[in-house]
Amino acid sequence: MPATAKVEMNAYAVALENFDLAANALELEENVRAMIKYPERELTVSVPVRMDDGKIVRFEGYRVQHSTQRGPAKGGIRYHPNVTRDEVKALATWMTWKCAVVNIPYGGGKGGITCNPKSMSMGELERMTRRYASAILPLIGPEKDIPAPDVYTTPQIMAWIMDTYSMMKGYPVMGVVTGKPISLGGSLGRNEATARGCYYTTRGAMEQLKIPMKGATVAVQGFGNAGGIAAQLFHEAGAKVLACSDTKGCIHSSRGLDIPAVMKFKEVTGSVVGFPGADSIRPDELLALQVDVLIPAALENAITEENAGAVKAKIISEAANGPVTPEADRMLDKKGVFLIPDILCNAGGVTVSYFEWVQDENHLFWDENDVNAKLEKIMVRSFNDVLKIHLDKKVNMRLAANMLGVGRVADACRIRGLYP
Ligand code: GLU
Repeated sequence: MPATAKVEMNAYAVALENFDLAANALELEENVRAMIKYPERELTVSVPVRMDDGKIVRFEGYRVQHSTQRGPAKGGIRYHPNVTRDEVKALATWMTWKCAVVNIPYGGGKGGITCNPKSMSMGELERMTRRYASAILPLIGPEKDIPAPDVYTTPQIMAWIMDTYSMMKGYPVMGVVTGKPISLGGSLGRNEATARGCYYTTRGAMEQLKIPMKGATVAVQGFGNAGGIAAQLFHEAGAKVLACSDTKGCIHSSRGLDIPAVMKFKEVTGSVVGFPGADSIRPDELLALQVDVLIPAALENAITEENAGAVKAKIISEAANGPVTPEADRMLDKKGVFLIPDILCNAGGVTVSYFEWVQDENHLFWDENDVNAKLEKIMVRSFNDVLKIHLDKKVNMRLAANMLGVGRVADACRIRGLYP
């Protein structure tokens, strides 16, 4: 890797900047800004774990509740070597606006542990998860803060959190966490929900730009729960996925990749790299492909001022959280790229998390068609709500989504008033 002097944007600074833009556009009063801008609660915890070799390693974990104005805090838990307190604060902030954009009765929260889960055994992961869950236990609960999966956390990890919480309480509490395995109160369709939401909102954008789905070209950065399944959905709908990537590299085929086969290949080999018949390209080449839709589905800061100039896609669908920096936003905007912002594009995940929590609390479960139909309705409505602000107020899609989200939280805040 050549040493490039890449300036990493601080995600929390980005979140604050985007809040200010929305608050200014809404002409929000200072009193309300003071009440809704910053996280309500932050907790940093030490997570000592006995590793398989007998050594004890101490990890650092976080849980941030950005807002409980519209309902309990809601948001995932991330396991990644680059997790920082500021990143978790940014992700928690985005959850608040995201839940408001799709109008589900939640605030926003997020958690994370700075660790490399890929180098840990199942036993180490379980012990770390259970210790972390007990450390954040005073904060979480189905009525106050409900974690879920995020980058490198799985339904199994959610099951351990549910079990740890339930053991402490002395009775089973399914609704403390979402994204659980189906056998433990999980919802059908939750696993595919983020990708489905991305698909529905992108389809909306394509209709707007009059790009037919059949034969449309797509590139996907990141082949995890969001990117991999999104690629599959576009493939099934008749689009051509020309390229996809994971942490090990990128693959490309000008005829379009056979996505179900790529999925199987990754399951067996652990990566998309080396998929027979595809050529390998560099990450910057993937972002610069001439495609209708570019889906950044990995981490923050994927598209920056350094590479935004090379983007040729007509639509950018932010399946990841925060993949485009504010400077890149301005550049893409100038070029006329239609961007579907993260808090709209990837809100399908938390929407079906909400369905899961509702099903758990009611002890009554829905079939998959019901889940998908309800999700589609919410995503289509939310896309149209944001699109309307974009067209009426002549602001870009990110600002439109932030105005909708921040505006709804501001309304709740005004009506509740200030305690005491
Ligand atoms: N981690 C996902 C997100 O960023 C899902 C959160 C949830 O389901 O609570 O939206």
